[in-house]
Amino acid sequence: MLKFDTTKSIEDLLYDRKLINSDQLSAIKFEHVNTGKDLTQIVKERGFVSDEDFVKAFGEVYGIEYVNLTGKQIPAELVELVPLSVAKKYNIVPYLLDGDKLSVAMVDPLDLQTIEFIERKTSYTVIPFITSQKDVDRILDEQKGKAIGEEISAALEEISQTTLKIDETGGELTDATIRDAPIARIVGMILETAVKTLASDIHLEPGEKGSRLRYRIDGVLEEKRIIPKEMHDSIIARIKILAKMKIDEKRIPLDGRFKVQVGNTQTDLRVSTLPTIYGEKVVIRLLKEEGAVFTFKDLGLRGLSLKRFEEQILKPVGMVLVTGPTGSGKTVTLASALAKLNTVRVNIVTIEDPVEIRVPGVNQVQINPQAGLTFANGLRAFLRQDPNIIMVGEIRDGETAELGVHAALTGHLVLSTLHTNSASGALPRLLDMGIENFLLASTVNVILAQRLVRKICTNCKEEHDTPAEVLQEMKTILSSIERNKTIMLKDPEVVKIIKKSSEGPIKLYKGKGCDKCANTGYKGRIGIFEVLEMSDRIGRLTLESSTAQQIQDVAMEEGMLNLMQDGYLRVVEGVTTLSEVMRVAK
Ligand SMILES: [Zn+2]
Repeated sequence: MLKFDTTKSIEDLLYDRKLINSDQLSAIKFEHVNTGKDLTQIVKERGFVSDEDFVKAFGEVYGIEYVNLTGKQIPAELVELVPLSVAKKYNIVPYLLDGDKLSVAMVDPLDLQTIEFIERKTSYTVIPFITSQKDVDRILDEQKGKAIGEEISAALEEISQTTLKIDETGGELTDATIRDAPIARIVGMILETAVKTLASDIHLEPGEKGSRLRYRIDGVLEEKRIIPKEMHDSIIARIKILAKMKIDEKRIPLDGRFKVQVGNTQTDLRVSTLPTIYGEKVVIRLLKEEGAVFTFKDLGLRGLSLKRFEEQILKPVGMVLVTGPTGSGKTVTLASALAKLNTVRVNIVTIEDPVEIRVPGVNQVQINPQAGLTFANGLRAFLRQDPNIIMVGEIRDGETAELGVHAALTGHLVLSTLHTNSASGALPRLLDMGIENFLLASTVNVILAQRLVRKICTNCKEEHDTPAEVLQEMKTILSSIERNKTIMLKDPEVVKIIKKSSEGPIKLYKGKGCDKCANTGYKGRIGIFEVLEMSDRIGRLTLESSTAQQIQDVAMEEGMLNLMQDGYLRVVEGVTTLSEVMRVAK
């Protein structure tokens, strides 16, 4: 299969191509005659030509085509085909599969043993291509950083160079300790991958055939791989040791925590286990130590919504409420608000469960019900500490609600979250909790409801065809915004988007999937919002104990976008997809 063109040797070829000069050519020949060393070896060692030129010439001499791997996307199934450790050892990258022919980039394409080995292992016919060592190293390093590979054992060989540090009992495990035990390394790999892929949770669920390892990335659970059944108990035991949980207690749910450091990122891990019929399920929540505090614009607030929210949180007294289900980004919004309010002139205290984002200069307290520190007790204690601004993690019950309202009435700015779906739903909910309607009307400044949608990956974004009925629905929602006189008058940012979308046909986009977005087509998230200001009319409706719907209608008349409308605007802007908005806002 390999055609050897031995009529010309590599040094002559390089000279013909003017890649080396006559002096260099003489030097090579002279060394060859003097030492008897292989000519190719001499050319390589002398370094007269670039790696790439050498590889090309070498390929030409031996009739092997050169492949430049720069910018090549290696399909995931080919990455899985040959274990990373094997690829590294033999310096190969399988990069294209066409029928039963597998194109493999090799540093040494004359290595017939390796070719034979790959053919046996994959049962494809290997077409060897020559490439540079640098290209192979780079591609394999990239793959190493990605998800756990086909064979845990193979992937584990890579972790010996890991930067992972696990903080146990105040001390640290040495790298050597991590290396020694295979299970410990697997756990290390699982954690490191989670941190590197910015996952928020790790789920390990035992099943009949094996355990499912899943990561929550950008709010969506993604399956990473199946862990062999026989390893499950050992992995759980290892995690429980790290989190200082009872290893032998498998019948009841347990909680624990520990920290890991990957590179410069310190991550706090909350571990919880749950007994299932197949064994213990474990969920690990990753909390970054260095807070993710953003500007409101970065979060996705804009136009009238941004203006109103900013105005209302800057008032010295009253209540600011953020609503939405778990995982809708409420905590980040509040932390960002605190960061904005945090100046030397104010004293800010927070009581949270748990403290998820640290805001420098803010006194953050974690509730501890066993020690008697609840949201309500904490709030009571705070009021004796002369704060200006109080953040209560969540209003869960009437007692906390009442204390919050009391704090707002006595000259504090109170920020909190509520578990309601819409902004307008927060007022009836607080009434249900036993707060007097006149107190609500006079203390609440603003209520913000939010969801997070995944953003289309900008690297692989492309226009896609949309069925006519979907476009019709988009038009209906957009024209409902266009008919809103308050918005068209007061929200130039929204007007701009509406104008642009009404000029031509609506274009929708999606990500087709690339290596930058782990083939999901999405990268990063952005909030969609509704911001309800306590206007005179909303105040009156609150006094009348009106329904959420009545409040919503008036708020929208007064220029509030609802979640769906804000989401649709993001869709026509090409920031997210319709299915994302439907997923979170319907
Ligand atoms: Zn992409």
